[in-house]
Amino acid sequence: MKTQIIRPFDPWKSPYCTCPKKFSLDPYTGCAHNCIYCYATSYIPNFYFPRRKKDLLKKVLKDCQKIPENSLISISNSSDPYQPLEEKYQEFRECLKVFQNFNFKILIITKSNLVLRDIDLLKKLKCAVTITITTFKREILKKLEPETPNSEERLKALKILSENKILTGLRLDPIFPYLNDDEIEEIVKRVKEAGVLHIVASTFKPRFDSWKRLERTFPKVAKKLCSLYFEKGQKIKNSFYLPQQMRRELMEKVFEICQKYQIPFSTCREGFLNLKTSKSCDGSHLIT
Ligand code: SF4
Repeated sequence: MKTQIIRPFDPWKSPYCTCPKKFSLDPYTGCAHNCIYCYATSYIPNFYFPRRKKDLLKKVLKDCQKIPENSLISISNSSDPYQPLEEKYQEFRECLKVFQNFNFKILIITKSNLVLRDIDLLKKLKCAVTITITTFKREILKKLEPETPNSEERLKALKILSENKILTGLRLDPIFPYLNDDEIEEIVKRVKEAGVLHIVASTFKPRFDSWKRLERTFPKVAKKLCSLYFEKGQKIKNSFYLPQQMRRELMEKVFEICQKYQIPFSTCREGFLNLKTSKSCDGSHLIT
């Protein structure tokens, strides 16, 4: 089966990836949210200058006709479907309309409360929405994810989605030592109150370009982390990892907090399978 735009999800043969078999769709190329830690900048040219895709809807419809029923489609892994372009062009909304005619499981990953606009369509699909929250501190957020809706808006979106019986998860990703690791409990507590059913957490795993952006934006934090990543840590494929013990301690911390608030938990590409209480890492198990 050869598809054009909804492609089999490719985790670059990451040894730690525990994702179920799924497809991936990016309605736009690039992303205007400008998160400094974004890894997609390392393989998509002019990433921070997003653009529309030619004949998106035609291609989506064609691919939907080829993909087996009940497949999982993850949207998006290398962009945000609810970035500013979507406000203007509504192309992802049109994709959601196409999905209404098929029997797929749709997993949406976003940082934007624009997802609320589409509640009417989401209600009619087998879907879950995972929203990323990394910090509630505005001064950090402004530098870390400069063009995104603020975290309070995202929290509100999680609450409204949950009230509308749309299944929700949180991506607590990435966690940086010395930057946002002191907010883990606050984030978990508040999303639990908002009705979130699953949390997936991951540590920052820079590639060269995202590391440079961290150095420019948070020089003091980068100074503390430099030897941890580049001397004591590991390189896996194109990403640098913190030392294993440090990652384990961070993930154990999130695990224990999630246990305290009775919320299922998993990690993303960390390799600590014993720290898992959710049935899937990406939240797709929520969709039935
Ligand atoms: S929202 Fe996601 S895809 Fe967009 S810049 Fe941020 S990390 Fe990259």
